[in-house]
Amino acid sequence: MQGKLLIGGMERASFIDFPGMVSAVVFTRACNLRCGYCHNPLLVRETERSFVGEEEVIAFLNDRRGLLGGVVVSGGEPTLQPEALAAFLRRVRAMGFATKLDTNGTRPEVLARLIEESLVDYVALDFKDLPEGYAELCDMREEASVIASSIAILRRSGLAYELRTTVVLPRHDEARLTAMARQLQRGERWFLQRYRPGDVLAQSADFTAPDRAALNQLAERFRAEFGLDCASR
Ligand code: SF4
Repeated sequence: MQGKLLIGGMERASFIDFPGMVSAVVFTRACNLRCGYCHNPLLVRETERSFVGEEEVIAFLNDRRGLLGGVVVSGGEPTLQPEALAAFLRRVRAMGFATKLDTNGTRPEVLARLIEESLVDYVALDFKDLPEGYAELCDMREEASVIASSIAILRRSGLAYELRTTVVLPRHDEARLTAMARQLQRGERWFLQRYRPGDVLAQSADFTAPDRAALNQLAERFRAEFGLDCASR
């Protein structure tokens, strides 16, 4: 049976989440990964109920037609609710909004279906680590190849997309990031996001934020050396 999207929260107007437009951001409940640096521990841990009803979100969006350009569906991990997600995106589309999906890339088949049905305009896909690093970094149970499959789907899709890495030290040292850069294609858009200490999933972990200037320099090197559309943020 088709249920409603389980939603954990909503940001009513964001200027940074959807390139080129003001958007509302909807955060879905639950995630299948456990990245220690995750800033949404509540969304990840609790799965049984919505904090915000889908109808409430739809009513809000209806009021904002013409004022907001797009709607971002983020998480948690939205693709864990494939039917409800597709249905929600259809409703949002019908109101005339552009749509963006933020995903961890572990459900390539769901991503493919959403693209096939033209339900997304832009995708931000996590590229968290080298394939062999996912199990340790995110407690990932799926085969690491699902991430490469998701990236391949985006490359074939013709959609605008970005890859993004939350850079956490000491894990993402220059050697690791360089090895990750080698897996990408010339011209591909890749954001290196600085880890921000705070209320994260693994409170006891010894994570450090990278230096802003050093990260900028690294992005510059990846642009020059690999032809990537790389930036830090
Ligand atoms: S950071 Fe990791 S654990 Fe948190 S929502 Fe994203 S994929 Fe899930």
